[in-house]
Amino acid sequence: MVEVLFLGVGAALPMTGQTNSSFLLRTEDACILIDCGPAIMQQLAAVGVSPGEITHVFLTHRHGDHILGYPMLMLWWAISAPPGAQCPTIVAGEITFKTLDLLAAEVFGGHTSELAGHAARVALPDMQPMALQLTPLVKLYTQPMNHAEFAPDLGARFEVSGKVLAFTGDTSPNDNIATLARDADLLVHDSTYSATLNPDYAAGIFGHSTAQISGRSAFASNARHLALVHIDAIYEGKVQTLLQEAQHEFIGRVSIPVAGTLFTF
Ligand SMILES: [Zn+2]
Repeated sequence: MVEVLFLGVGAALPMTGQTNSSFLLRTEDACILIDCGPAIMQQLAAVGVSPGEITHVFLTHRHGDHILGYPMLMLWWAISAPPGAQCPTIVAGEITFKTLDLLAAEVFGGHTSELAGHAARVALPDMQPMALQLTPLVKLYTQPMNHAEFAPDLGARFEVSGKVLAFTGDTSPNDNIATLARDADLLVHDSTYSATLNPDYAAGIFGHSTAQISGRSAFASNARHLALVHIDAIYEGKVQTLLQEAQHEFIGRVSIPVAGTLFTF
C-alpha cells in the first residue's frame, strides 16, 4: 500500500479557503509528512490524521509557508503525545535545519525546544544529490532544485514497493527534475504560474515554475501522473487553464488536487 494524501495545495499566500502545500506519503512502514506550513494542525485534523501517526517529516526548504507549522507540531509532541510515543524523524537540508532549530528554540522554548533538539534528524547537503534508506521499505533520493539562494530547496524522490513518488517543492525549471522524477508514478510539481495567462513568466520566475514547465518536466522524466500544486492565488477561478497548459505538453494523466485528495498506488 502506498498513498499520497494532499493536506493542502496552495501557494505561499493561497487562494480563498485554501492552505499551504503539504502532503502525506503513507506506506506500510512509514507516514511521511512533506512540508509543514502554518496550518498543519488544522490540515491534519481536516483529514482525520493524528500528528502521532507521523513517522518522518521532510522539509523541502525554509520558506515560512513550508515550515512555520514545525513548532506547532513539536508542541503537540511536547504536550499531547502518548507516553513513550516516538517523535518523528526530521529530514531536511542543512540550511533549513538552522531555521527549524531557531523556531523550536525561540517560539516555545522549554520542553518543546528540548524535544525538537532530541528528535532524530537527517541533515542533508543543500547543494548536492543524496540517497538514503529512510525505512526498510522507503528509499529517499534528494536533488537540489532551483528556488532561492536564501532558501535552497531539495526535491524528494521516494521509492517504495516498486513505486516512485517525486515532489519538487518550490522550483524554477532545472535539469535535476528529470532525474528526480525518472519514470515516476506520480510527480507533484510546483506550478505557481501560467505561461498561457502570463507569457512573460514562461521561462519560470521568482524561483517558481509554470504549468507548462510542469508538463515538460513530466514528459522529460517519463512520469505517469502529474499533479499541479502551489498555484498562485492570482489564478483563482482559472485553474482549468493551467490544467490544459500542462496537458498540452504531457500526454499522461494531469491532476489539480485539492485538500483531501488521495491517490493510491
Ligand atoms: Zn519557497
